[in-house]
Amino acid sequence: MNGLDSLYQQLILDHAKRPVGKRDFTPQAGNKTASHHEFNPSCGDEITLSIAVDDADMITEIAWQGDGCSISMASASALSQLVTEDGLSAQQALERIAAFREMLQSRGQIEPDEELLGDGVAFQGVSKFVMRVKCAMLAWVALEADLKKLGYTA
Ligand code: ZN
Repeated sequence: MNGLDSLYQQLILDHAKRPVGKRDFTPQAGNKTASHHEFNPSCGDEITLSIAVDDADMITEIAWQGDGCSISMASASALSQLVTEDGLSAQQALERIAAFREMLQSRGQIEPDEELLGDGVAFQGVSKFVMRVKCAMLAWVALEADLKKLGYTA
């Protein structure tokens, strides 16, 4: 295992241990909200991810509850951190989801952009394991579904 792999593995473990965004959903009054439950039958991971979006199409809140393997939970945490720290609009979030999916489907061929994906780049190695791609995508697919419910599509 090279240095980058072990760094990424540590990032995943840290997110799994202290997940960002795993809390009660407390949207601001007047925001549009959506909630989506996503299940990954191949591993048994599940998540319910909720978002609030304001009049300017900015995501003002993201919160989730879930249960599953450490990759799925850590990925939900990395996604929540990305959305919260970068202050993403709905459209920007869709771009990040597309970039994350592209990285995971590349089988290790794409060098991910940390500016776009934040700690999401730590899941780069997962792309070599087809069975785990769904684990890593779980929260991101749930966010995509929430955005779709609110009328935002890529
Ligand atoms: Zn899993």
